[in-house]
Amino acid sequence: MGGLALVASIASAREASAFCRSTSCRSTSSKECERDDNGCPAEGATLYWPTSCIAYATNELGTINLDPADTRRIIRKTFQAWSDVDCKGGGTASMTFQEMDPIPCKKSQFNKDGPNVNVVLFQDNDWKYRGIDGTLAKTSVTYNDETGEIYDADIEVNTAFNEVTITNNPAEVEYDLQAILTHEVGHFIGLAHSDQPTAVMYESYTPGSTSQRTLTDDDVAAVCSAYPPNSRVACNPEPRGGFSPTCDAPASGGGCSTASAGRSVDSAPILTLSGLAILVAASVSRKAVRVRRAR
Ligand SMILES: [Zn+2]
Repeated sequence: MGGLALVASIASAREASAFCRSTSCRSTSSKECERDDNGCPAEGATLYWPTSCIAYATNELGTINLDPADTRRIIRKTFQAWSDVDCKGGGTASMTFQEMDPIPCKKSQFNKDGPNVNVVLFQDNDWKYRGIDGTLAKTSVTYNDETGEIYDADIEVNTAFNEVTITNNPAEVEYDLQAILTHEVGHFIGLAHSDQPTAVMYESYTPGSTSQRTLTDDDVAAVCSAYPPNSRVACNPEPRGGFSPTCDAPASGGGCSTASAGRSVDSAPILTLSGLAILVAASVSRKAVRVRRAR
């Protein structure tokens, strides 16, 4: 009996630590960021939003194969999945979201010297990132490199090379938009991949699956750890620098306005994180081939 109990406690301890938080450390071709025993990033500042509520907007064009209202309804569900999550120890995680009206901005960017918006957009025509065959979506998070404070996050969906669906009929699901975006919203709030294959934050998506629509205990533990109940962090949904529905550069400031990528000259560098949040198709399926022919 004693041996059984020991095994069970080891298993649950591993389970409890499966989720990972993202940090400011970025691996390069010459240096990998260190990882702890659970495979989580162990270097750099842990990423976090300094607010208990985040505003987001969808690009007004949506995606060509889906009704815009349906698309927004699905996107709303994916943020709601991470909102007011009931935590194991009681209370709800201190994170909610505010949906704004659709906006013309269709670019993943951060204006260091101007207004911003956290946008969800669809790339119907082109996917400029690497991993073109399997990459379903990407979340770019801009943060303070020293403190880990998140300034901005944008989600792009690769509809140029994948047919996303919103059906609840298991026979008709291709790449489930709700599952994909629920995963991306996890990155949006600063979570990294989990090694639990059933978790929303697991690193890959199986075509035809909708299981990642629903948070598992591991995902719940992640958001409750990042945004604990009763954290007393105020709700301030205004984007950093104010809100702008367009991606226009700031009108003033001498015209140098494309500082969104790369290092700022401030003492606390701002960096746009790329490639953190790629949800990859688990395998090349016949469905994927069919999608490509249809285009
Ligand atoms: Zn991911």
